[in-house]
Amino acid sequence: MSDRDGLIWLDGEMVPWREAKTHVLTHTLHYGMGVFEGVRAYKTEQGTAIFRLQDHTDRLFNSAKIMRMPMPYSKEQLNEAQRASVRENKLESAYIRPMCFYGSEGMGLRADNLQTHAMVAAWTWGSYLGAENMEKGIRIKTSTFTRHHVNITMCKAKANGNYMNSMLALREALDDGYDEALLLDVDGYVAEGSGENFFLVKDGIIYTPDLTSALDGITRKTMLHLAADLGLEVREKRITRDEVYIADEAFFTGTAAEVTPIRELDRRPIGSGIRGPITEKLQSLYFDIVHGRVEKYRHWLTYV
Ligand code: PMP
Repeated sequence: MSDRDGLIWLDGEMVPWREAKTHVLTHTLHYGMGVFEGVRAYKTEQGTAIFRLQDHTDRLFNSAKIMRMPMPYSKEQLNEAQRASVRENKLESAYIRPMCFYGSEGMGLRADNLQTHAMVAAWTWGSYLGAENMEKGIRIKTSTFTRHHVNITMCKAKANGNYMNSMLALREALDDGYDEALLLDVDGYVAEGSGENFFLVKDGIIYTPDLTSALDGITRKTMLHLAADLGLEVREKRITRDEVYIADEAFFTGTAAEVTPIRELDRRPIGSGIRGPITEKLQSLYFDIVHGRVEKYRHWLTYV
């Protein structure tokens, strides 16, 4: 990933991709305290546009506030860095990764002598869970790893260290032959995927877990908005794994995962085991919107 042409925005400057380096004593590398975002830009007829850029940047700043990381740049500067990372790498569509991390100014947990550094990289990244799965749906497994407790780590923050739990769960699911993990919260209710929010459909109503221990996903927010506009009812509530087994449809949402149908949980086919009609409707509207094909939602796009 590091040995390629291109430019990465690092601490206010565009630097050649191969030279965007940091020291081995980088504090975040040792203790995992950092915050980041995953953002996507899509090709539209009016040019390449970033989907819900301001919402991502707002969440990055909220994550930093939760972690008490001082932010050395303004939201406007980081918005512009994200636009520039797509524009200057001449990408038609992109996954954008902003991250704020502590540098190598000091070591130890006191963290009172550190500076926050910021980087933004962008590259072309196709369907996160596989292009064919966008139609076919994925097979998932209830994880043996529990999702974070709200007083162990901070679930509202998209913080680097939170993703150890995600990686343990995803690796377990992949090793067991599944595409993704479904993590339950400390009380045993459905929380989210390793990097996605979860939805199910039963008798025409859409259900999604409340946000106690799941990330406040921007794609999730988009789904709630679109469902309301389409006149579909959404209820946020605690969901048990057996409710998922007997659901009519299920899907994951995320910037990387977009809207991915789930066709099986723990070897029980969900509904008829194919992408359901409500999932398909929301998925196709989502793709129309991010590609700038729906005038009504163009305010969510920032052209690079
Ligand atoms: N949950 C987790 C744990 C995630 O990492 C992500 C991806 N950021 C999501 C949910 C979905 O969030 P979003 O739709 O904002 O990408």
